[in-house]
Amino acid sequence: MQIAINSEGNRITPSASSQRAFCPLCNGNVIGKCGEIYNWHWQHVKDRDCDPWQEHETAWHREWKAQFPIDWQERILQRDGIKHRADILTPQGVVIEFQNSPISGNEIREREAFYGEMFWVVNAEGFRDNLHLRSVVKSKLAALDERFASRQKDLEDSYRQDLDEIDKKIKDTEDAIRIHVSNQKYQTGREAGLRKEQENVESLVEEQITAWGKKVFNGIRSWRLDECLDVQNKALQAIKNEWDKLKAEMERLEASQNAIENLKTVVVDGKLYKAISFEALLHHLPRLVVAVEKDSLNSLFLQPHPIQSVKELHAYQYKKERYVFAFEPTEKLNEIAKELAEAENVYTSLNKRIAAVRAEMLAIAKDWFKVKLSELERRLAQMERKRIELEASKVTLEKRKAQTQRQIEAALKELENEQGEHLRARGAIMRENKGLYSFYWVRERASWKQAKAPLFFDFGEGFLYERIDHNLLRKCSIEDFICRFSQEFKI
Ligand SMILES: [Zn+2]
Repeated sequence: MQIAINSEGNRITPSASSQRAFCPLCNGNVIGKCGEIYNWHWQHVKDRDCDPWQEHETAWHREWKAQFPIDWQERILQRDGIKHRADILTPQGVVIEFQNSPISGNEIREREAFYGEMFWVVNAEGFRDNLHLRSVVKSKLAALDERFASRQKDLEDSYRQDLDEIDKKIKDTEDAIRIHVSNQKYQTGREAGLRKEQENVESLVEEQITAWGKKVFNGIRSWRLDECLDVQNKALQAIKNEWDKLKAEMERLEASQNAIENLKTVVVDGKLYKAISFEALLHHLPRLVVAVEKDSLNSLFLQPHPIQSVKELHAYQYKKERYVFAFEPTEKLNEIAKELAEAENVYTSLNKRIAAVRAEMLAIAKDWFKVKLSELERRLAQMERKRIELEASKVTLEKRKAQTQRQIEAALKELENEQGEHLRARGAIMRENKGLYSFYWVRERASWKQAKAPLFFDFGEGFLYERIDHNLLRKCSIEDFICRFSQEFKI
């Protein structure tokens, strides 16, 4: 208690120990306490406070009360014959109570009912750790920033995904074009090769014929022209067999002809005979055979002995050394000539057959080239269409990429604008929530829930926290708190 009443009825503070005065509430005797350790104050002689609402006064109380004019401090209020001493009573009749120790909900309600318009300032230093505070600005800014950052990230992610996808498609298309073009080149090369061979179709067929149906289409082997010429090739092979036999036969005939002509000539009765060995006659006995004595050969009187049968020939067996045997060759030579003429005919007919096969082969080969080339042309045209399609889809993809890039630029620009908005929103949050703190109790001081009057917590930090509702505080300076009670009041 700072203020007592002296015998003149004035409000005074103690100026010396043992100074006597009266309690403004109960009119009991009070005594000055002016030590060196304690603040100077009044104490009831009976050492008890007469106001049951009054708690033990601490330095915290005195410091708070000292913020206000002395005339406002420790004022007695009386209602319905009940008196209480208010810590502060302003000229406007507003009470401020400084509460240090725990207080029950009932007492809070009683005091509020008694004092009417009042404010609570609670020494909350002791339960600062019991109360969790979080700056509303901080938490709202964190939420706002997180939303903004995640929007930005979502945007970037989504476009990056789009771009990656398009890039991959472009690369795939380029690969496809590269493969396609190289294929096209290969097929174009095949076409050129085929055209060149088409120009040489006659000599190609001629080669086939001179090879007698053995497949010689080296250059166009892969095109399988051979398969179309199977019948003709077989015909050629058959002709070849006949040709070989014919050739052998003709050689044999010509050899016989030569052999006869090369025999030594013997003139018998003015006719040309050909000398022949006795043994050869044993094998084959021609008509008009004679035996001539060797001794008479060079004489003018040649003695020929006709031999008309094998039996007659045998008669010369043991005297053959003395004779030259000869035969008249005309008949044999005519026979050979006739056979040779027949062979010539066969030869001619074989040549005719070859010509027919050649004509067939040429027709087939020409057709075949025509069909193959038109197939290939069709295929090349198709490939060209496909190439154009691929190029077009690449162009489309590149357009899409450019469009997406423009969209990204636009989105980034929009985001820049949003950044401005975002900064403005941050500013608004900071303004609107300045000094606001959300809070919760670790162990709730439930009694303060009962307080209806404005309630301020003093955590000993040089600030007050005004309770806005059950989970919201507003920080305010002590100066602002004091100033709100009087415009004229100056500290
Ligand atoms: Zn008293």
